[in-house]
Amino acid sequence: TDLDKIRNFSIVAHIDHGKSTLADRLIQETGTVALRDMQAQMLDSMDIERERGITIKANTVRINYKADDGFDYVLNLIDTPGHVDFAYEVSRSMRAVEGSLLVVDASQGVEAQTLANVYHALDADHEIVPILNKIDLPAADCDRVAEQIEDVIGIDASGAIQVSAKTGQGIHETLEAIVTRLPAPKGDRSAPLKAMLVDSWYDAYLGVIVLVRIIDGVLKKGDKIRMMQNGSVHPVDRIGVFKPGMIMIDELGPGEIGFLTASIKQVRDTRVGDTITHEKGGCTQALPGFKPAQPVVFCGLFPVDAAEFEDLRDSIEKLALNDASFSYEMETSAALGFGFRCGFLGLLHLEVIRDRIEREYDIDLITTAPSVIYHILMKDGTDQELHNPADMPDLTYVEHIKEPRIKATILVPDEYLGDVLKLCQDRRGVQLDLTYAGSRAMVVYDLPLNEVVFDFYDRLKSVTKGYASFDYQMIGYQEDFLVKMTVLVNEEPVDALSTMVHRDRAEQRGRAMVEKLKDLIPRHMFKIPIQAAIGGRVVARETLSAMRKDVTAKCYGGDMTRKKKLLEKQKKGKKKMRQFGKVEIPQQAFINALKMD
Ligand code: GDP
Ligand code: MG
Repeated sequence: TDLDKIRNFSIVAHIDHGKSTLADRLIQETGTVALRDMQAQMLDSMDIERERGITIKANTVRINYKADDGFDYVLNLIDTPGHVDFAYEVSRSMRAVEGSLLVVDASQGVEAQTLANVYHALDADHEIVPILNKIDLPAADCDRVAEQIEDVIGIDASGAIQVSAKTGQGIHETLEAIVTRLPAPKGDRSAPLKAMLVDSWYDAYLGVIVLVRIIDGVLKKGDKIRMMQNGSVHPVDRIGVFKPGMIMIDELGPGEIGFLTASIKQVRDTRVGDTITHEKGGCTQALPGFKPAQPVVFCGLFPVDAAEFEDLRDSIEKLALNDASFSYEMETSAALGFGFRCGFLGLLHLEVIRDRIEREYDIDLITTAPSVIYHILMKDGTDQELHNPADMPDLTYVEHIKEPRIKATILVPDEYLGDVLKLCQDRRGVQLDLTYAGSRAMVVYDLPLNEVVFDFYDRLKSVTKGYASFDYQMIGYQEDFLVKMTVLVNEEPVDALSTMVHRDRAEQRGRAMVEKLKDLIPRHMFKIPIQAAIGGRVVARETLSAMRKDVTAKCYGGDMTRKKKLLEKQKKGKKKMRQFGKVEIPQQAFINALKMD
């Protein structure tokens, strides 16, 4: 395809503003997929993505479009994830395209992730076409939202296209705008091959699939390619494009986006952002690379049933093959036995992996308290990374502790502003900015990540009845007065419940935690003390009183089937419990005990 007949673009939007629906409409309108094969959200392929209506991995589709000027165009759409955890994936896939459609729900206006995502597009020097979506809704207010786009983002919205991805209104105009307003890619067909490795994943049939954007030169089936990062050479056995199903083709030229397979063993052997060239006569100058996504949240995953440890290992290894941003190492816990310490990009990422293990591999899991990475500066001058509060070294050797902090941007209607400020203050936040974007307040806070990872987003949603939007970026490490809090159940420390807390909040946190645990742990035949301690000092204590009667006692002599049912229920519930000394703690307690409210 001639360069001037190619357009590469992505769609940026806040979650739920209609990115996937718009992509579906573009695919449908151009006949890329026969109508009978259309299903909602064509690009969101993974089950969990469909269920939650979110896109996790970047997806791509090639669309053929005959424009009003009479020429045939190839439009390559890269759909990017919309959630904060995956900001990194957004920024890297933006480098593979020249333009973006900025989708804003005309009944809602600009939200925090609209801003975060559009900034990625601007960083990548994109031409941007604003789209006001959902104009079929009575609450849609195009003038107000267009003005907001100009005020808050600072881009010209006078040419914004009014669209209803639901009814199909404005879709033709959108396709024309892609052709007439977005720039064609540049590239040199006769230059040595230079291709950008945009993404890679594992496919059960084809092995590792590598998504590439050709910058210069031509990539052909049978070519020997070299990964510039590590010099490894691979023969290309397949080349293709997504429409959105895989279609095999013979070559990809400059400006094109497609995939290759080259008997690469695992996803970890491919580096996103790497430059691919030919083994012989290749280019010498690599593209500027990306730095790999670093996990920021760690937690332990343990099988409820210790016998399932090997199955868990197997599932984690399989998932990691396809997700280089997910890290793991074996962990042993006095209380929970063998498991894995896993690193994630954020809480959603954690939940997605956990759900997939439970669902696709049918393993019940205990998830320990999520923790961020602390830097422990030791008295001997060394700097240790702490991924697990249980590994906290003895305080006598510690000089000080540094924790990661984030810059959080929150957009919220005025009436909830007070609650949001209070929430941020409660979480040790420092206000950096407070401005207005139309009728909404935009607050910027410097917050410790450890106060955010657990349930900040849930709390924010609940205090604002779902009207706040939130986005964050890491800003760096800062020293603070942090201590390790241990929980003792029946005088035994439960390492899986250890957390790092700020000294000033330790009593309050400890009290909240033991009160929660008192409700979460079922009564036993004996009294159970539940304590929170810092070092050797107990800061909070509750006592769970002993059970009085056998649950089935009242059934004696009566209905035997009812008694049997109760016992079965008990047995089932037991499977979700873990034994700690003499005490059984339900799986759910590990997560719930840490929720702060
Ligand atoms: P995404 O999170 O940005 O991918 O958003 P989706 O495409 O999943 O859309 C979120 C919700 O908005 C879904 O329930 C869609 O059916 C709905 N939606 C999308 N576009 C329109 C539209 O133009 N009009 C109306 N009324 N609803 C829409
Ligand atoms: Mg979507």
